[in-house]
Amino acid sequence: GGARPTRSPEGATNADLFARAQAAIPGGVNSPVRAFRSVGGTPRFLVSARGPYVTDAEGREYVDLVAGWGPAILGHAHPEVIGAVQDAAARGLSFGASTPVETELAELIEARVAPVEKLRLVSTGTEATMSAIRLARGFTGRDLLVKFAGHYHGHSDGLLAEAGSGLATFALPGSAGVPADVAALTLVVPYNDLDALAAVFAEHGDRIAAVITEAAAANMGVVPPLPGFNRALVELAHAHGALVISDEVLTGFRVSKAGWWGIEAETDAAFTPDLVTFGKVVGGGMPVAALGGRAEIMERLAPLGPVYQAGTLSGNPVAVAAGVTTLRLADDAVYAKLDEVSALLQREVSAALSAEGVAHGVQVAGNLFSFLFGEAGAGGARDYAGVLAQESWRYAPFFHAMLDAGVSLPPSVFEAWFVTAAHDDTATSRILDALPAAARAAAS
Ligand code: PLP
Repeated sequence: GGARPTRSPEGATNADLFARAQAAIPGGVNSPVRAFRSVGGTPRFLVSARGPYVTDAEGREYVDLVAGWGPAILGHAHPEVIGAVQDAAARGLSFGASTPVETELAELIEARVAPVEKLRLVSTGTEATMSAIRLARGFTGRDLLVKFAGHYHGHSDGLLAEAGSGLATFALPGSAGVPADVAALTLVVPYNDLDALAAVFAEHGDRIAAVITEAAAANMGVVPPLPGFNRALVELAHAHGALVISDEVLTGFRVSKAGWWGIEAETDAAFTPDLVTFGKVVGGGMPVAALGGRAEIMERLAPLGPVYQAGTLSGNPVAVAAGVTTLRLADDAVYAKLDEVSALLQREVSAALSAEGVAHGVQVAGNLFSFLFGEAGAGGARDYAGVLAQESWRYAPFFHAMLDAGVSLPPSVFEAWFVTAAHDDTATSRILDALPAAARAAAS
């Protein structure tokens, strides 16, 4: 096994390509984490992907545990998905009019996630959450939004707000360029802390339009909701006339056939959000995202209602073809395989770290998982402060040892690992073979 360093015919190395990109594009990337800032080194410029593998411009193949940041549950370039995209592309790339396949995608999602009675398609997760918040404000006639520290909902202004302390505060902007007046409409609360949430509602309850929450948090590494947390937060919000937006952009159709909602629906913690956002898997690797929910709320959107929302590329026929085909193929066997590969990697990475004496915690939400390094991480984390307490510097050497051995992990310790149903024994054994050296690197 291992990576095969064979130069592409053009001969450009990753370093050449990165230098050229940096001259043309800020930081050389179109989304910041791709720049490898938190692990150092040269980002790999990818030229193709198939099944569980990605190949860089130097011709090196890596077992991939990023999966396009989530969408590729079937593995990359699944022949049926590619075929559907090719067929759709041959019929025209974009019509700016309704197509039958959009309704099919809406019906597929509504059939699986009961709280979604009506659905609207957009192109990115950022658009989905931004539109859901506007809708919640339009529906309730209120302005304030509550989010949890460490939750990521895309990069619209009001959602970049982050709290600097464990106390609920009116947020300061988390990015330059966000007006303080905009950030001040977002209240940030520690995750999994119902007391803090109750305190915010006690103080501002009649002004809160919605609470937005990752159904299970996976953008600070994985931090699952405590049992019953989602349910209790819905009850609290509803008691104050506020809505709950469950953000399943990352978890939707990845962790189960009905997303995180589907996992909790089977338990005592079953919860019913008012609005749900989707992305990633619903586009099968193409730009599709969605917001859905109770019909009474969704019907406040234009053209039926006064809340404006639109998009030239919304419901794009080529993109939706990838999403519909992916969801149709994502049957019980696919989710069983994702769970199996996930459990194997959790166990084996943990064993390799233990063998080298690296204290660590394993964080799990469905088939999503990540690791917390050091003694502070060994007990697990239930919120952002807990995640930040780990020895995060141990991840960079671990990451690079894996990359050198031909395994591509997320280039930050604060990201989930993503398995695919195409991770067969050949792919997983290449990962397992790489682990001892990586664990040794993390130990030093
Ligand atoms: N919400 C969640 C939970 C996400 O994980 C992401 C992206 O990672 C987004 C929203 C934003 O989606 P996009 O990057 O498609 O704008």
